[in-house]
Amino acid sequence: MELPDTPWSPLVRSFLDALPGTRVRPQALELDGLPLPARAARLAAFVDRVAARTTTDAGLLRFLQSPRSAPKPRKDDSLDVFHAGGRDAEVDEVLRRIFAAGHPLDRVEVVCASSEYAILAWERAQRLGWRVTVSEGIPAVMARPGRLLLRYCEWVAGGFQSADLRRLLQSGDCAPDALEPSGGLTPGQAARLLLKAEGTWGRDTYAPSLAALAARYAKEADRFEDSAGEHQWNTRKAAQARSLGAWIDGVLTAIPAPAADNLVAVREVSAAAAAFLAANASRASGLDALAAVALGAALADLADALGEKRRIQLHGQIDRINRLGPGEYEVADYKTGGFWAPDWKGEFAGGTRLQHAIYGAAAAALLKPVDAKARVTGARYLFPAVKGRGRHKSIPAPPKGKLVEVLGDLADVMGTGVFASADDADKCTWCEFAPACHPDAVDEVSEKLENPDNTVLEPCRRLRRHV
Ligand code: SF4
Repeated sequence: MELPDTPWSPLVRSFLDALPGTRVRPQALELDGLPLPARAARLAAFVDRVAARTTTDAGLLRFLQSPRSAPKPRKDDSLDVFHAGGRDAEVDEVLRRIFAAGHPLDRVEVVCASSEYAILAWERAQRLGWRVTVSEGIPAVMARPGRLLLRYCEWVAGGFQSADLRRLLQSGDCAPDALEPSGGLTPGQAARLLLKAEGTWGRDTYAPSLAALAARYAKEADRFEDSAGEHQWNTRKAAQARSLGAWIDGVLTAIPAPAADNLVAVREVSAAAAAFLAANASRASGLDALAAVALGAALADLADALGEKRRIQLHGQIDRINRLGPGEYEVADYKTGGFWAPDWKGEFAGGTRLQHAIYGAAAAALLKPVDAKARVTGARYLFPAVKGRGRHKSIPAPPKGKLVEVLGDLADVMGTGVFASADDADKCTWCEFAPACHPDAVDEVSEKLENPDNTVLEPCRRLRRHV
């Protein structure tokens, strides 16, 4: 049985249809005024629509999209509609009603229109000490380590403003181990010391301002040589200012400074953020501990994904390598379909023809151990079938930099997640996704690609320029 009204991709649809066994048609509610999108109608499971009997006012909710077809309410108290002045007030009112009704929490379910509402309800419940779960989970940024990471990024991106660091320390999300043992300094005290130090912004503001503050306290301690209480208090404050200065110095040192080209390596930035989190994030609950682990892993993934060198794993099989002469080779690839010369113009066909270049580069690496002078000078697509009439298409090997450029643009397209449809309807003839595609997609995409305001399509434009 399939989940009703879930449009699968055409490939998954074909797979599900080919599965053996007995098909159970799921039943789904008939919802007035809510037509299924064409894509869902084509690719979702066949379902039996059931017109639910409306026996309570709560059942009237299915007429939300077509209130005119709804029967008259029964006023049976099963449905109550209220207005609230904003999202927070709305969630507060829901929780108030749950509390007033006295239901055990494990018999209450709050259905939210969006995940923002769910998170808000969860936050409110946390403050009330209610133990609740959220069906889609809690984003790591909602836990203390997540909030701390956001503040840390704000501080770094904002030019190391002293006020940002103060807010970070006062947030309750930061619990630096390094401050406690030496000076017995809490994050709140550290924030107040920062305020007294009158630092401004920039990496260089902290050391001199905190050193000056420590010196002032030390001078006061000397002045109160005869008063044990005053002397001790000032001496302790001087030690705390030095301790805070040392902690900030350690944090700043770990954050990479921009190189001459004003750039920093993503890997170093992410490692500094991960180290800061590991050493300073408050873990007041199990959720915080889990979030700290998840964020550490996410930062490592980010560094891998955006690292200086991108890696794309490619799989394929070279059909044949021809030796053309001493140290000179070409790769050959057999095509079983027909040959239509206009389709085989150009080299990369807008990023859709890559085999010849990738196989060429791979073959060069494979041949090196057997022929130190091996050079792959080109590739040949062969069409030996009847439809192909024994034709072939030869393409000289592109410079390595050109292949890297094309693959880089292809990776950018994948990175943006914006995949423009074909700009020529002929390309759709054999496409297995055609049932799911908008019939006007081809014309529309051409217009969108021509519009420079569609900046999100820039990687697609670059890729298609590789003819
Ligand atoms: S535009 Fe054409 S080729 Fe692209 S997905 Fe749609 S049907 Fe397939």
